[in-house]
Amino acid sequence: MQQTRLRSATGFSARASPYLNSNLTTKPPVKTENVLVSVRVRPPNAFELENATLYPTWDIDPFANRIAVAAEFSERMKKPGTEFYFDQLLDGSDNRAIYEQSVSDVVRSAMDGYNGTVFAYGQTASGKTYTMTGTPAQPGVIPQTVEEVFDYIRISSDRREYLLRVSYLEIYNETIRDLLSPDTADLRIHDDKKRGVYVSPLKEEVVTTPQQVYRILKAGEANRHIGATDFNAHSSRSHSIFQLIIESREHSGLGIGTPMRFRSNSQPARESGVRISQLNLIDLAGSEKASGSVERRKEGAFINRSLLTLGTVIAKLTEDKSVHIPFRDSKLTRILQSSLAGHARVSVICTVSPAAVNYDETMNTLKFASRVKRVTIRAETHS
Ligand code: ADP
Ligand code: MG
Repeated sequence: MQQTRLRSATGFSARASPYLNSNLTTKPPVKTENVLVSVRVRPPNAFELENATLYPTWDIDPFANRIAVAAEFSERMKKPGTEFYFDQLLDGSDNRAIYEQSVSDVVRSAMDGYNGTVFAYGQTASGKTYTMTGTPAQPGVIPQTVEEVFDYIRISSDRREYLLRVSYLEIYNETIRDLLSPDTADLRIHDDKKRGVYVSPLKEEVVTTPQQVYRILKAGEANRHIGATDFNAHSSRSHSIFQLIIESREHSGLGIGTPMRFRSNSQPARESGVRISQLNLIDLAGSEKASGSVERRKEGAFINRSLLTLGTVIAKLTEDKSVHIPFRDSKLTRILQSSLAGHARVSVICTVSPAAVNYDETMNTLKFASRVKRVTIRAETHS
């Protein structure tokens, strides 16, 4: 994969101590620079182009990583002329750019033993799945990650050997479902002193080729349909977590393509030279305000709570003082506890629509993004 490696825009610091399973309460807080917040504005779709107002809603400056309420819109609609700066501000359809700017460092850190988590957050139809999964012409974060992981293994196979495992689950109404084994009932979150927080029984598949990963993803995706009357509606109300567990140790004469289970799954790696990390790639439920039937509002309440908790958890993780971090307030944050605390790298990609009709939801998403990581916000009120 052709990639630019010169940039260090994310500012991730290179620190040692790559272990996954140490006691979380003794871990230092995540450094602010280890949390990266990106905002991605998708192009207007045909309907939005046809129904667009005469003036743009948002002023977007990818070079300055700035997004602001456009002056004319602000004036006419009597909206504050709020402006936001983020770590990354992207527009357009190029999925390679978002990978290189917002994800690649997290993946390379995971290969070096640091846990990582990448989220796509935003209202339904803002581009979360386009960003995470993409299309054949524009592969998203997940396939690009898979390619980079295997590339990385290939180039370092003279020094290290790897064991790669994947799992795929979804959380719907605070219930966990194993997408690789949909009939498994009663998945629970366990907390083990040595192993940390994990879901069990959860199927983990050992993989040795990208193609194998794609087959597994496809099968998992198909399982999201089960029990759902409308797949798109269902997928917009559930969080999906695709997890790669990367285990490696110094070479012992076996090359790539020879996966070796040198540690059983339940035993955390402790021997010197062994690294283990998890990388979570997450397509979150739609962040929009729920309305409609009792059922919809119930789903909405679960989603709200978990997204609110997610924002709070990440925001608190970057605080210097030791504060209570409410991991337990939602299944999502509980499952991710080991991957959010400590030395983890977190990349939050907030996707927004450029359209005037979505102004309120876009503003909510930008506020979420700025709450996750304090950024410059300036509001001028026109009244
Ligand atoms: P979400 O997963 O947030 O509900 P989708 O990813 O399904 O939204 O996007 C909604 C529609 O917009 C899809 O047809 C998708 O292909 C398109 N789309 C989203 N983001 C982009 C983008 N950056 N460039 C081009 N098309 C996009
Ligand atoms: Mg989607």
